[in-house]
Amino acid sequence: MAEKLSSKAAIELEDKYGAHNYHPLAVVLSKGDGAKVWDVEGKEYFDFLSAYSAVNQGHCHPKIVDAMVEQAKTLTLTSRAFYSDAWGVYEKFVTEYFGYDKVLPMNTGAEGDETALKLCRRWAYDKKGIETDKAKIIVCADNFHGRTITVISMSTDPESKTGFGPYTPGFVVIPYNDLDALAKELEDPNVAGFLVEPIQGEAGVVVPHEGYLRKAFEMCKEKNVLFIADEVQTGIARTGKLLACDHEGVRPDVLILGKALSGGVYPVSAVLADDEVMLTIKPGQHGSTFGGNPVAAKVAIAALEVVKEEGLAAKAQKMGEIFRSEIEKIDSEMIELVRGKGLLNAVVIKPKNGKTAMDVCIKMAENGLLAKPTHDHIIRFVPPLVISEEQLMEAVGIIKETILSFE
Ligand code: PLP
Repeated sequence: MAEKLSSKAAIELEDKYGAHNYHPLAVVLSKGDGAKVWDVEGKEYFDFLSAYSAVNQGHCHPKIVDAMVEQAKTLTLTSRAFYSDAWGVYEKFVTEYFGYDKVLPMNTGAEGDETALKLCRRWAYDKKGIETDKAKIIVCADNFHGRTITVISMSTDPESKTGFGPYTPGFVVIPYNDLDALAKELEDPNVAGFLVEPIQGEAGVVVPHEGYLRKAFEMCKEKNVLFIADEVQTGIARTGKLLACDHEGVRPDVLILGKALSGGVYPVSAVLADDEVMLTIKPGQHGSTFGGNPVAAKVAIAALEVVKEEGLAAKAQKMGEIFRSEIEKIDSEMIELVRGKGLLNAVVIKPKNGKTAMDVCIKMAENGLLAKPTHDHIIRFVPPLVISEEQLMEAVGIIKETILSFE
């Protein structure tokens, strides 16, 4: 058996041979199970990042891993140049599961967003009758939809965007959670779509006011504009419902899913829509070599079955309420605000004695809980949804002990 790398050696390798496009916490993980992960030295941690909400079903869920291994031994990739006996079965399953006519498969979330944008533009020209190349899509300030050139063209975050121009045109940015701004832009007849995260995850778990999504959806309907929901981070039970849009009874015209669609086992993303939208894209106009492969099919079916079998949406709802109420009880000036829905939560940290959210995360890691700051002063707390109440209370204890140690 190959010798295990020490943390130090593993970090040195990544530093020397990998691009420096991430700034990881200095923890080298080698094993995961449920809500927990272990580093190469055997230290145990609660995972309160869940790979940015990809591991909702818990690390290495046996049913999902078995589905992957079984299929990998049989047939891994055909490309969509041919049919496979796995893909259509998944298409039927996933469209029935979410209630849409059709699915278009991709691998990553960003590809899902790109696909939705292309679909929206095609629909604009073929169905809505917008003049060629004039379609506009409304997006929200502080959005996060991934890292491709077109996706960062919609971004307002200088770190993601600056220095990568020229940018893709055709986007109109409005403030998030602002229906007046939306109403104003919807007056433009060239607007084809409104792309929105039901809760802005990367922005720091920004929850819009109740009724925002419902009203925005109705306003889009009135103007024949597609309501496109990016549920890559909020979807698949994370917020206490199967989709975050379900909290307001909104059925998006175009739904983008990724991350937990595979339980974090394999890159699987999907765009769901009805025929009027989906059939505007014809053979040769969009695709991906790996998108729609047999392994993805089996993995995604298993991952979605786990969500229902284990009641993960209801669990996220209940655990989220416990989490927020327990964190609110911590008596520290450093905790400015706790917010979130289900098990997608964040704590806004007020720096104290020069100690910031990053210092809190480093200390929490020492104490056995992994989380990461977003935007300097916000810590996202996003455990796998399979976490038990006992584990959650243990984790809250670690957070409390850490925060109070800065007092
Ligand atoms: N959309 C949202 C809402 C996200 O949170 C993310 C990733 O964090 C993405 C898209 C991009 O997904 P990926 O990193 O798989 O491309």
